[in-house]
Amino acid sequence: MSKLNIVVGAGFSGAVIANLVADKLGEKVVVIDKKNHIAGNSYDYRDENGIMIHKYGSHIFHTNNEKVWKYLKQFTDFNTYMHKVVGILDGIEAQIPFNFHTLYEVFPKTMAQRLETKLLDAFPYNSKVPILEFQKQDDDDLQYLANYVYEKIFLNYTTKQWGVSPKDVDDAVTARVPVYLSLDDRYFQDKYQGIPLEGYTKVVENMLNHKNIEVVLNTDYETYRINTQNTIDWNNVRIFYTGSIDEFFNYKYGQLSYRSVKFKLETHNVEYYQSHACINYPNNYDFTRIHEYKHYLNDKSEKTVIAKEYSEFFELGKNERCYPIASDENFDLYAKYLEDAKKLDNVYFLGRLGDYKYYNIDTAVARALDLFESITA
Ligand code: UDP
Repeated sequence: MSKLNIVVGAGFSGAVIANLVADKLGEKVVVIDKKNHIAGNSYDYRDENGIMIHKYGSHIFHTNNEKVWKYLKQFTDFNTYMHKVVGILDGIEAQIPFNFHTLYEVFPKTMAQRLETKLLDAFPYNSKVPILEFQKQDDDDLQYLANYVYEKIFLNYTTKQWGVSPKDVDDAVTARVPVYLSLDDRYFQDKYQGIPLEGYTKVVENMLNHKNIEVVLNTDYETYRINTQNTIDWNNVRIFYTGSIDEFFNYKYGQLSYRSVKFKLETHNVEYYQSHACINYPNNYDFTRIHEYKHYLNDKSEKTVIAKEYSEFFELGKNERCYPIASDENFDLYAKYLEDAKKLDNVYFLGRLGDYKYYNIDTAVARALDLFESITA
């Protein structure tokens, strides 16, 4: 009899590994999830207006990884949506990441021209400079500009999103949205980008739709183990765990911290509420951004649905884990759990929560593909 595989979590990481094990190894897989739906935080659904809602906030697929792209294309086609974001800066709708267009949107022309010349003397055209790097300037004008960008785009948004200032989050976080010495307004420059034509849930459903895969929802790992102690030989299963690694070990060294986000949905009786799918509000209001979902798949409706995004700390039993918090303390804690994880046979951790890494969908998929290769090598 072939080995039984238990995949904990039906998000992208879990679905990819489940699909590969079921399809390439021909083994039985049970995918369990404590949520009442598959697709994890990329879950989307069409509402009564026919608008595809991203329940846990906008997800925009983008990758340069050919392997990931090829793999996912087996399960979906993508549209050619290229994400562009604007932010409201002193009441002006301006391009984010900050680029040469933003320069002319927020400053008077002569001032923007002077800054543009200085910028092109200081940095190569098309370079991407993280804000914390960008602030290391000698020139007074560029110093002024760097402070402007820091204060108007990063300081308050990051404080709302992470509860601390940009200097106190891991540099890699703000580097995701660098100052871009370019005329390219897109949020991502990846070769492949788009939204799955039938949504993310459908992609995951297609991955899990396999004769060797069984999906069990509304069930957490502990409950499943207890319920199956007489029917499953737990000493002889392979476990792929995409939940939070501290939970697997019953928090024996303490809890890893996360940020969570919540979304307040509003339906409006207008065709469109805003110019872009996502508008950032760094300096006003308590939310960080407003998503208007119908932009993503060009859904037709006389109404529109928007979501205001609020950030808060993750609290067990209260909300969802969304963003690992990159800090020495959390990484030390994670390292302890990882040491214990390495001692286990046939238990593999993956995904944003299992690896405690700020993965995008493509990096989560790449990690699952690599893990599969490594266990079958
Ligand atoms: N960020 C910011 N202002 C913005 C956009 C982003 O300060 O207008 C910072 C903020 O710290 C955020 C990080 O850059 O958490 C990464 O932004 P990204 O849009 O990649 O976040 P995600 O979409 O993953 O929530």
